[in-house]
Amino acid sequence: MARKKLIAANWKMYKTPEQTREFFNAFLPLVADHDRDEICVCPPFINVPTAVEAAKGTRVGIGAQNMFWEKEGAYTGEISAGMITASGCQYVIIGHSERRQYFGETDDTVNRKLEVALEAGLTPILCIGEVIEEREAGLTEDVLRRQCEYAFRGISARKAAKLVVAYEPVWAIGTGKTATPQLAGEAHLVIREQARKSFGEEFASNLRILYGGSVKPDNATALMSEEDIDGALVGGASLDPQSFMKIVKY
Ligand code: PEP
Repeated sequence: MARKKLIAANWKMYKTPEQTREFFNAFLPLVADHDRDEICVCPPFINVPTAVEAAKGTRVGIGAQNMFWEKEGAYTGEISAGMITASGCQYVIIGHSERRQYFGETDDTVNRKLEVALEAGLTPILCIGEVIEEREAGLTEDVLRRQCEYAFRGISARKAAKLVVAYEPVWAIGTGKTATPQLAGEAHLVIREQARKSFGEEFASNLRILYGGSVKPDNATALMSEEDIDGALVGGASLDPQSFMKIVKY
């Protein structure tokens, strides 16, 4: 069965509720007739209710950018998986490199979050990828294998059914440098191979692996044409309705 591509927007820390409303007012009519791909927008938490309300009854799903693994408690500033689902989100980004880099996210915390997100019925978008020093040292494959292996630890194939992985080479995020389709395709093969080891053949062949890192309207077609690339996680270029629409309709 062909894997339906997922084009996901990661807004990072951009936009107010008002700007969120404006985005959806402009974006939704542009993709109203588009059902070839699955579309998801992950705004900052504060804009989730506005985004959910705006996208109600459309094909656009809403996601969160992070979550904590505990159900509730004295964890100031954190949001649980239950709160995310109750707010109307279907997706959650886990282990984004900016969280690993600035907020102490590790392979272990990523694993804990992933398990809880899956338990809550969310579609987790697990981000992995090498930094430039690792690529230059020829360690990309090792890093991807390690990040997958840790993230998948203790999780069964049945439980992981909704998992989506995003390969995001850190040197390509927000830099305007994109991995070539061939280079991304090679990394995706490594990830699929690791998923095969952890979860088996059938799971691996159904697993959607997105590419992220400076995806723009003018490079989306080439990237999305790679056989092993099953969609995109888009940062900067997802903030503008026209630009994100062009990527969705690559
Ligand atoms: C991202 O935030 O996941 C990302 C890929 O950002 P950008 O598209 O801006 O490189």
